[in-house]
Amino acid sequence: MTTRQQLHRTTLSDHKVWGIAEQKLRIFIHQGNVKAEARESCPNQGYYCGQCPTSLSNGFCQHRIILQRARLFNKATIPSRFINATMGALRQQKSTPSIMKAITWIDKWCQLDPLPQKGILLSGPHGAGKSFVMAAVIRWLTLQRGISCLFAIFGLFLMKVKQRYNTGENDYELFENLFNADVLILDDVGSSRNSEWTNDVFKTIIARRYNDCAITFLTTNLSGGLSEEKNENDFSLWAGSHSTSRLNEMSYWLTFDGPDRRRLSQKI
Ligand SMILES: [Zn+2]
Repeated sequence: MTTRQQLHRTTLSDHKVWGIAEQKLRIFIHQGNVKAEARESCPNQGYYCGQCPTSLSNGFCQHRIILQRARLFNKATIPSRFINATMGALRQQKSTPSIMKAITWIDKWCQLDPLPQKGILLSGPHGAGKSFVMAAVIRWLTLQRGISCLFAIFGLFLMKVKQRYNTGENDYELFENLFNADVLILDDVGSSRNSEWTNDVFKTIIARRYNDCAITFLTTNLSGGLSEEKNENDFSLWAGSHSTSRLNEMSYWLTFDGPDRRRLSQKI
């Protein structure tokens, strides 16, 4: 059986397309999500077509890799509002020093090979651009590194589960999608009312990702500081001690508004 870590190592070994995927794909919006399709089709179904600058050792040509990357990107369900979210756009962004520092840190995270096993919990006020950053991360990981990702808005996910429950349909598949992605982005956690049920769903997702040693990113507008003084907007109060302690182990906590220097000085 391949562990997730091994998977990252193997998918990273044939990376002759780093930097090429973006140029070879057309990025567009379809049914509320950002999608990608190859600009050109392969005359030989992705096998030694002779038109690609490099053919990979297993006989597949670059066209095939581009198609695989597009497939991964399309499965990641990036919301349409983030069509322009790229690492390049992030690097050029002009923002507060603390946000720029966090972006530099995340950028570095994305370049490491193999990827760190710890994800990122990004907290900060609404409108600070947390989700944009995460969408850029997904675009990079799927297109440039061939890693399967899923962008899931937590509140929307809860709504879908409820809907299935109301119609008597099985919600298994919804959860499986979250569990199976190599990198999961759970966006906007903590903005929905904290019922016992919400908390149970959250706990289930985090426990499963934790057990699978799977990379998980979270964004939240609750405060994710380390301070011992808890207030009602504190993420750990919302998430509960069980999930908080797991998330502490499985993620770097970054703050997107004020500088939380202790966190940003963490070594990956
Ligand atoms: Zn080809």
